[in-house]
Amino acid sequence: MSRINVMQPWFGEEETAAVAEVLASGWVAQGPRVAAFERAFAAHQEADHAVAVSSCTAGLHLALLVAGVGAGDDVVLPSFSFIATANAATYLGARPVFADVDPVTGNVTAETVAEVLTRDTRAVVVVDQGGVPVDLDPVRRLCDPQGIVVVEDAACAAGSTYRGRPAGAGAEIAAWSFHPRKLLTTGEGGMVTTSRPEWAERVARLREHAMSVSAAERHASVLAPAEQYPEVGFNYRMTDLQAAVGLVQLGRLDEMVARRRALAEGYAKALEEVDGLRLVADPPHGTTNFQSCWVEVEEEFPLSRDELLVHLARADISARRGIMAAHRQPAYRYRYGGGLPLPGTERLTDQTLILPLHHQLSESDQARVVEALCRAGRAR
Ligand SMILES: *Cc1c(COP(=O)(O)O)cnc(C)c1O
Repeated sequence: MSRINVMQPWFGEEETAAVAEVLASGWVAQGPRVAAFERAFAAHQEADHAVAVSSCTAGLHLALLVAGVGAGDDVVLPSFSFIATANAATYLGARPVFADVDPVTGNVTAETVAEVLTRDTRAVVVVDQGGVPVDLDPVRRLCDPQGIVVVEDAACAAGSTYRGRPAGAGAEIAAWSFHPRKLLTTGEGGMVTTSRPEWAERVARLREHAMSVSAAERHASVLAPAEQYPEVGFNYRMTDLQAAVGLVQLGRLDEMVARRRALAEGYAKALEEVDGLRLVADPPHGTTNFQSCWVEVEEEFPLSRDELLVHLARADISARRGIMAAHRQPAYRYRYGGGLPLPGTERLTDQTLILPLHHQLSESDQARVVEALCRAGRAR
């Protein structure tokens, strides 16, 4: 019996060949492959502009910066997210204000955002949590007239759809992750997509120390033009090695999503027989890529969430606790004092676990997971 992993990236020989080609070219830092990956990603996601960065965290930082967020501003965002969502606002000296999530989708809604908007709210970060697309339009209808920028944390959402288009396509600005926990991976890496050309241009400069002439441009000429630094920037560049992998992975994305959705369908069918386990599903307004295939362990299930994790681990099945809640972490607990209760967030973070789901998960391995869940369901 072998270990079943919760997540596993999927690579083929094409990625190896693409990296070897970049090495042979002698140009490994941000260059022509990054530019090609940006064009391909923008086309795939129906985005006007795409700028590659070193991670989604870096992308969120720059997205909030170009949206005008600074010290003393409030940024409304879900506590129910990977901590990077709250950190990005904090880097800018802004205060994260936590909005609750709908326990069905795991996402903020226009209602939960409206509940916590403050006079100082400069931006709202919505998250496509675990790949489930957020219902963006009502949030924008709430925020746009007030001049509050809505940033989409689409870290998990490559391959998900919202109202018949790729997730993120309707965002003024969105940030993406290519960490191995997501579907499409470049090892580490991220992307910012935006409908505003001036934001794309500023993100592109800020990722490269805010240099007026890019490194690629300087190296293209024998006598490099003098560069200027009009503001303080960052080194948030992606490398051509990563972008070469990203280009191949982007070509695999649709196939990865199809496979994951088929496996999730398998879980959904099998769990119809088990009382007390609720599997995440497509919301009415879109489709998920099942980046995180979570189940809620409900009251009527014989085991608690943590007991079920132990039960699965005994069968050498690696599941994971569900999404974290930032407001409970030491880094944020003290800032959260006086915040509204977050019942949807606490319910999901306490009662969900993420099931193994990845491209190469075999039907027999999935059957083993289902069998273990069914056995636990009969445990009383
Ligand atoms: C993974 C993730 C991030 C961070 O992405 P990195 O590329 O690792 O910086 C941010 N937000 C959410 C919702 C994520 O799932």
